[in-house]
Amino acid sequence: METAPAPTPPRPRTALVFGVANDHSLAWYIARALAAEGVRVGLSYGDERLERRVRPLAATIDAPLVTRCDVTDEAALAETFAAADAALGPHIDILVHSLAFATREDLTGPFSQTSRAGFGLALDVSAYSLLALVRHAGARLGPGSSVLTLSYLGAERVVSGYKVMGPAKAALEACVRGLAEELGPRGVRVNAVSAGPVRTLAAAGIPGFRTLLECHAERAPLRRNVTAEEVASAACFLLSDKASAVTGQILHVDGGYNILGV
Ligand code: NAP
Repeated sequence: METAPAPTPPRPRTALVFGVANDHSLAWYIARALAAEGVRVGLSYGDERLERRVRPLAATIDAPLVTRCDVTDEAALAETFAAADAALGPHIDILVHSLAFATREDLTGPFSQTSRAGFGLALDVSAYSLLALVRHAGARLGPGSSVLTLSYLGAERVVSGYKVMGPAKAALEACVRGLAEELGPRGVRVNAVSAGPVRTLAAAGIPGFRTLLECHAERAPLRRNVTAEEVASAACFLLSDKASAVTGQILHVDGGYNILGV
């Protein structure tokens, strides 16, 4: 009697996560949550000084790839995706963009005094880089793949202290919609989580961040701040098939703070 061939086990999902600086990074929480779901996660960090922090974290999730990539450097981007081919295979199911940058001067001075160069740099690192990642990923993103970035309320409202990062996040959110429209016909989804304030290295650079935390905890409908784990859970939802009809969206994970008027 002929027996049917055993079904091929499904290929484990693969992810490439950009923006892990340390164990407080939102990117790290997302990477760890994905790994817990059985996803093979490659990690990328920006500054070579961070390697000693990122490698031990990567070891805890058996990350098949840990690589440095300055997202403003086209050659570094090409090298990173070539390394991902070797480590993760030809498909990227999940691409996470969790990074941003503005100079200290442009975050501390009056908004109107933002330098031309500083404005360009903030938008390049924090918004254009999403397009650059998707461009370099190319056909590695196929039907069912999902892209996620991290935004903040400063994209939509004036948040004192957020300065040039406001326009940078507004551009980022417009890029989410533009990419979702372009990649949708290929079955690729693109979304953002707009997170409430969470203590991280990047957040420490925002003037008045402590006041921001206090204000959110006091006024948000849930009357508390969000945790990095909660941001990661929402990210994992958007990156999963449970969100298979969701694209081009900005999901606020902020205890409801964004709905408030007076
Ligand atoms: P984080 O741990 O400091 O992560 C920021 C990352 O951006 C770092 O890994 C940093 O790497 C990377 N980066 C900056 N310039 C880069 C470049 N040229 N090339 C590659 N990587 C670069 O802080 P985080 O709070 O988790 O930030 C992650 C994302 O969440 C950001 O987009 C942030 O705006 C967003 N977000 C954060 C909050 C919050 O309250 N924490 C709220 C809403 C949204 P290097 O330092 O090595 O350059």
